[in-house]
Amino acid sequence: MQDKDSFQKFLFDALHIRGEWVRLNDSFSQAVKDKNYPPLIESLLGETAVASVLLTGTLKFEGRLSIHARGAGPVTLLTAEASHQKTFRCLSHYQSDLPDSNDLQELLGQAQLAITIDPVNGQRYQGIVPLERHRLTDCLAHYFELSEQLDSFFMFATNEHAAYGLMLQKLPGYREIEDQDAWERIVKLAETLGPREFADNDNATLSHRLFHQEDVTLFDPETVSFACTCSRERSLASIRSLGKDEALDILESEPVIGIDCQFCNAHYEFDRSEIHHLFGIGPTH
Ligand SMILES: [Zn+2]
Repeated sequence: MQDKDSFQKFLFDALHIRGEWVRLNDSFSQAVKDKNYPPLIESLLGETAVASVLLTGTLKFEGRLSIHARGAGPVTLLTAEASHQKTFRCLSHYQSDLPDSNDLQELLGQAQLAITIDPVNGQRYQGIVPLERHRLTDCLAHYFELSEQLDSFFMFATNEHAAYGLMLQKLPGYREIEDQDAWERIVKLAETLGPREFADNDNATLSHRLFHQEDVTLFDPETVSFACTCSRERSLASIRSLGKDEALDILESEPVIGIDCQFCNAHYEFDRSEIHHLFGIGPTH
């Protein structure tokens, strides 16, 4: 199967509508490895991870983009981050007694969806919308409608091995074209795509099968991979923000301070001399 772990843009040449295909295969298995997520959480997280990679296609500069849904329901956190280099990581927190439902409002309860853009150079930007839709696809479309006044369409498909996504978005030039039925027509065609068909066919086949009556340019695919942004330096910075007193308190009862990365399970340890160095405490005699 071609197109594994990939991001691929396409364009309806005459229509000012753009699209993207995302497929997370081995990269997603790596991202959820050793987490023992229940199937429901794994599926939701697959959608969130795919969405974060799809949205990197809207970045106009180098940087990171994160989707963050925090709720008061049985699922308390659903988050994924992706970079312009098409790396991503994802995480969920949830209670053990999950309802048998894939309704996002039921699972997250009162919740907000935040999308944060963190450029390498420049100002961090965050947009927040209340989570008022039952599916992540509709929440994201709602977000773009409110924040950018852009009509967007999202579709996700997940199975136990992978997560897939399709995004369509009107470009500002759409207003100028004569064929004003194009958006509705193309969304209707996209909606005919079933999850099984999505998983079993590559992007070129699907683009042809769905949109063969339109002129579509498919751009070169980019590889998507799992990568965590944690590091010893960042873990040390989090100890610094904990404060000197708190850190020394821990060292009263523990030989080292340990920091676990919740995204990738990496474990960092800092001994007394490193902590003393961090807070500028000189050697004692
Ligand atoms: Zn990590």
